[in-house]
Amino acid sequence: MAGEPQADCLFCKIVAGEVPATVVRDTETTLAFRDINPQAPTHVLVIPKAHHPDAASLAAADPAAAADVLREAGEVAAQEKLPVAGGGPGTGYRIVFNTGAGAGQTVFHAHAHVLGGRGLEWPPG
Ligand code: 5GP
Repeated sequence: MAGEPQADCLFCKIVAGEVPATVVRDTETTLAFRDINPQAPTHVLVIPKAHHPDAASLAAADPAAAADVLREAGEVAAQEKLPVAGGGPGTGYRIVFNTGAGAGQTVFHAHAHVLGGRGLEWPPG
C-alpha cells in the first residue's frame, strides 16, 4: 500500500534506524541526511518518512508530504548556510529529483538531492 514501509528499501531502513546515516534534520514526516557519495560540498538527501517510489507518486498520493520535503530542502540549504544572494560561482543551490533509472534514479524511495557549495553547471549531465 502507498506509504507503507518496504522491507527491501534502503531509505525505509534508514528511517527505521536499521541502516546508519548522518542525519541533519528530522521532522514528523521527513528525514534529511548526508549523501554517502557527495557530489558537492553540501549534498543532503531529503526524504518523506513514508515510502513512495518517486517524487511524482509522492506528490500524487500525499501532496502535503511532498510540500514538507520541498520546505525541508530549503531549511537544509539555510542550515548549511548555502549563500543565495550575489549570483557568483558557489552561490545558489540545486534541488534535484532524479525520476526513473534512465535519469539516474538508483533508490526508489522519493528523495530530493540538495546540492550546493560549488559552482553548478547548466545543463546538468
Ligand atoms: P538517486 O541516484 O536515486 O537519485 O540517489 C540516491 C542517492 O543515495 C545517491 O546519491 C547515493 O550516493 C545515495 N546513497 C546510496 N546508498 C546510500 C546509503 O547507504 N547512505 C546514504 N546516506 N546515501 C546513500
